[in-house]
Amino acid sequence: MNRYRRQIAFAGVGEPGQKKLTNATVAICGVGALGSASAERLCRAGVGALVLVDRDWVEWDNLPRQTLYTELDALSVKPKAIALAEHLREINSEANLLTHVCDLHSENIHELFSTADCIVDGTDNFETRFLINDFACKQSIPWFHAGIVGASGQSLSIVPGTTPCFRCLLPDPPPAEQMQTCDSAGVLGPAVGMIANWQALEVMKFILGGSTAIDGSLRVFDLWRGDVRKLSIARRVATTQEDGCIACVQHRFEFLAGEQGTRAKPMCGRNAVQIQTSRSEPLDLETVAQRLRAECTVDVNPYMMRFQLDGIQWTVFHDGRAILTGTEDPDEARKLYARRIGT
Ligand SMILES: [Zn+2]
Repeated sequence: MNRYRRQIAFAGVGEPGQKKLTNATVAICGVGALGSASAERLCRAGVGALVLVDRDWVEWDNLPRQTLYTELDALSVKPKAIALAEHLREINSEANLLTHVCDLHSENIHELFSTADCIVDGTDNFETRFLINDFACKQSIPWFHAGIVGASGQSLSIVPGTTPCFRCLLPDPPPAEQMQTCDSAGVLGPAVGMIANWQALEVMKFILGGSTAIDGSLRVFDLWRGDVRKLSIARRVATTQEDGCIACVQHRFEFLAGEQGTRAKPMCGRNAVQIQTSRSEPLDLETVAQRLRAECTVDVNPYMMRFQLDGIQWTVFHDGRAILTGTEDPDEARKLYARRIGT
């Protein structure tokens, strides 16, 4: 306990609080810039078990902001979940670290997160957030959303049934072509660190103080200007005009049921994967093409667009369907689709 004495001395923790941290299991989905920084904070604070889920490997362009990873991790193309667990073991050998190198989807989320007391959002896409929100609302597990692009971001800590959920804030995923991503708008390391630390603090507050420690406000960070705003949002409860939030009020879990979201299937014998999405609006191919033209030549005709990127021949249709030729790995194809087209 000597190790934690300054944390225990804080009024909000104490020895009983430290025991709560030791007994807690936190799942972290995505251990890039946000998730790895939150994981480090929680591991150093003595959270007993961390479930680390990530589908990526360490790359050179991660190093400016993903502070635990090293050049050696990038050189050895190490999966982020594995690299993170290795570094965290050096920081806190008592932590129980479970690693999963995979894509989170509706068929494995129960297995991966069933032991978690809460879930940390370290993802970079809306589809996974809607899936986590479905799972969290169904299982009544708190989760801690955060996202960042450039030097701006937001956070929302969600206690299902008590505070507004992610679909109370955002009923449907925004159109992919309107979304800025870290690929298109960049991202700054210190800004990520600020938001990740806030996210980790929220997790500690929940473990120590329960759901009443979570105020359910949306925090919006514009760290280039130095502004942090706290915005009250409401749960979308049922009214005479509306049925209320589809997830936390109606308990219809479209993403968890696989009715919504991206599905990827290998195309037999073609060295290709087909991606299908359930979009409410057609994809504006010209808008996506303009963004991609910074990196490659894109041909658009009235039916589809085609381009060569990431060693893949892409063919993308108005309904969001895509064929990625040059891979047979559905998880890889989903990852590339999220990065290049959006979800
Ligand atoms: Zn809701």
